[in-house]
Amino acid sequence: MAKYTPMMKQYIQIKKEHKDSFLFFRLGDFYEMFFDDALKAAKELEITLTQRDGGDEKIPMCGVPYHSAERYIKTLIEKGYKVAICEQVEDPKTAKGVVKREVVQVITPGTIMEGSMLTEEENNFIASITPTQENFVISYVDLSTGESFVSLIEREFKDVISELYNRPVREIVVPSDVDDQSKEELAHYLNATISIEDGNDIPSEYQYLVDGLEDDRLIKGFGRVFQYIFKSQKRFLLHLQKVEYVELAHYMKLDLYSKRNLELMESIRDKSKKGTLLSVLDQTATAMGARKLKKWIDRPLLSKSVIEKRHQQVEALMSHFFEREELKEALKEMYDIERLAGRISYGNVNARDLLQLKRSLSSLPNVQHILAQIDESTIKNLLPELKPYEDVYKLLDVGIAEDPPISITEGGIIKDGYHEQLDQYREASRNGKAWVANLEAEERQRTGIKSLKVGYNKVFGYYIEVTKANLSNVDLSRYERKQTLTNAERYITPELKEKERLILEANDRSVELEYELFIAIRDQMKDYIPSLQLLAERISQLDVLLSFANVSETNNYVKPNIVDSHVVNIEDARHPVVEKVMKDEFVPNNFNLDENTNVLLITGPNMAGKSTYMRQLGLIVIMSQIGCFVPAKFAELPVFDQIFTRIGAADDLVSGQSTFMVEMLEAEHAVKNATQHSLILFDEIGRGTSTYDGMALAQSIVEYIHDQIGAKTLFSTHYHELTALEESLSQLTNVHVEVDEHDGEVVFLHHIKEGKADKSYGVHVAKLAHLPDDIINRANYLLETYEATSALREQSSSDEQLTLFETNDQPPIQKNVDVINELQGVNLMNMTPMDAMNFLYELKKKLD
Ligand code: ADP
Ligand code: MG
Repeated sequence: MAKYTPMMKQYIQIKKEHKDSFLFFRLGDFYEMFFDDALKAAKELEITLTQRDGGDEKIPMCGVPYHSAERYIKTLIEKGYKVAICEQVEDPKTAKGVVKREVVQVITPGTIMEGSMLTEEENNFIASITPTQENFVISYVDLSTGESFVSLIEREFKDVISELYNRPVREIVVPSDVDDQSKEELAHYLNATISIEDGNDIPSEYQYLVDGLEDDRLIKGFGRVFQYIFKSQKRFLLHLQKVEYVELAHYMKLDLYSKRNLELMESIRDKSKKGTLLSVLDQTATAMGARKLKKWIDRPLLSKSVIEKRHQQVEALMSHFFEREELKEALKEMYDIERLAGRISYGNVNARDLLQLKRSLSSLPNVQHILAQIDESTIKNLLPELKPYEDVYKLLDVGIAEDPPISITEGGIIKDGYHEQLDQYREASRNGKAWVANLEAEERQRTGIKSLKVGYNKVFGYYIEVTKANLSNVDLSRYERKQTLTNAERYITPELKEKERLILEANDRSVELEYELFIAIRDQMKDYIPSLQLLAERISQLDVLLSFANVSETNNYVKPNIVDSHVVNIEDARHPVVEKVMKDEFVPNNFNLDENTNVLLITGPNMAGKSTYMRQLGLIVIMSQIGCFVPAKFAELPVFDQIFTRIGAADDLVSGQSTFMVEMLEAEHAVKNATQHSLILFDEIGRGTSTYDGMALAQSIVEYIHDQIGAKTLFSTHYHELTALEESLSQLTNVHVEVDEHDGEVVFLHHIKEGKADKSYGVHVAKLAHLPDDIINRANYLLETYEATSALREQSSSDEQLTLFETNDQPPIQKNVDVINELQGVNLMNMTPMDAMNFLYELKKKLD
């Protein structure tokens, strides 16, 4: 074992407790890192790696200056790392031996509070997952806003991921016995840092957080994330709000796939907001509102009355154009009250923050006044009682200076007139300065030296400066020489020094006093944290409702009629995102699924608009259930409990799953969990495998949904053969997308009509894309050949199949099954004619 210096021993000791973090070890004006931390940090932060004598070996070391540490910490956090801040906790001057050091805070992706590291319009959640006997408890906290939630998930691990997806969760705390694969899946799907915590105690002074939670599993689940925060932050967490139990049964269930496929908040292509439902709906004016909107989109409601209440609120705001405009302007004046409250609790607000808070509160009476004009009681009374906010406003208005600096230790943050003693210090300082300012003129007169100057510097304080040419006029009985420059001499006088002492003393005292007064105001503010959080909640609701009203008006949305029966009846429906791009070009379509129509089987050529039509319904349902109006002329909809999707060719390349596998996983998830009240959107399922495989699967899936589930289902397919199902499945109806064709040219009308499409137009689309004529002609020829062969095959298939599969309910003969499997597995395109002959020969032998 190597011998280390006492300080390195101390480092190693502390590092042991913080293995999963970069340990920022305070040494004078630097945070230093050693060993592996240093090697890794040098790379991640692009800083110079050096080394240090640590006993009998050289130790890799790198460091960042204390003053610019925040920038480096931010970089590491953004990369998903954690940083343990280790400070000197005793004065190095008085310390005996090695200065005592302690980790004072662990900064982690899920626990950041610094404004510069947070995204304004996004929550920053840290979640915990606690497996219990037969289900999971998830809890998540946004430390910057103080919100805490807990839910019980009665299903599988996959549902945990779906629930947290889109949330945005930066860090996930799990018990140490969670297996590696689960950890990897969490990190992968949720892009989060994984941390371990086995404790789940909630100290008695924080018990109120879980008041009202009865289920012990929920309390323990929250306890895990709480313990982790508590241990890493090492400070009071006054702003944490009572844990809200989210009963998942009250919200529409959207699995991971649907959240992703419907592009609710991020696009599949580049994960940006562009092209998403969020981008259309977000006209919020505040950061609080922007975050609230995301929560609403993520959790469509299930209660008819609550949905209808939101619709009414939006309607009321829509019919008050001027009030709406005024409210929007007023909300623009609002800063992020929710996060300010969090920082007040954390003790890291400065005077500018408090001034922002004051400005935000100053517009409240106006907001209240405008709301009172709106004849919808739930809007009229949206704001809480204004009294506590008036008190806060007054406190800040008399206490905090109008143009304070960022620092709270250099004065200039408390208003004149707030505190008598402070005013006296300031007066003394002002008088002293005025005296000094007069001194120059006085001394010039007295000495007759016109160029005489009074100045100040940090080392010598105030001085009188006389150029060398004028030295003969200086009265050395009054002036005492202090400093010699090349061209001048600097002097002091006893009166000047006395004034200087008074000024500096007054300055020092007033800065100290200001700091104390500021801390007192900040502490006083802590009493108002719950009120501020309530206000933030209401303002954010108002902001989202206003946004809905604006968007609904601009885009001509209609208030949906929520019905109890199992019908979907929408006239002239549009896709909210696509219509934004296409403007007037977009062709509206109807949805008519009465009580007896559950499955629409959609056929039509590529590029006709099938996928658009299907997604459109998904988005309309979500818009309706989050309380917004919908893009249509008329809409009658039930409340859907879940939406399942299988849409588009979004290959899950990252996790290495093939399109077909993803397709089957999505289908499995849907058929297993869907109910009669769900919406299923299956877009060209079975595409990723060979024709017969795919068609067989597609058909059996439609039949299963039709017979066993009875969910409203849009099922698009390129297998025209499936349209025959209309005859055997009573609740299935064929629709197709209309195209116009003359002289071999195809024009897409994007119009959905009853009945099946007569053929596929793939080759026409290729032509539209200007593939060379040779290819198009050849393809047309091949198509005709294929169609002729498959017609032949259909004629001869029926009786032969019977002998291969089964007879009179008897189990299939194993060797036959083997042969079929082999046939299905073989890729004819890769075979030479000779291979094919041999293969056939082998097969025949097996059947003998
Ligand atoms: P499909 O799924 O049938 O191949 P898509 O739904 O992907 O077709 O639509 C192809 C393109 O057609 C879309 O990108 C869009 O530009 C256009 N489109 C689809 N539906 C409409 C519509 N209702 N009105 C106008 N254009 C549409
Ligand atoms: Mg499509």
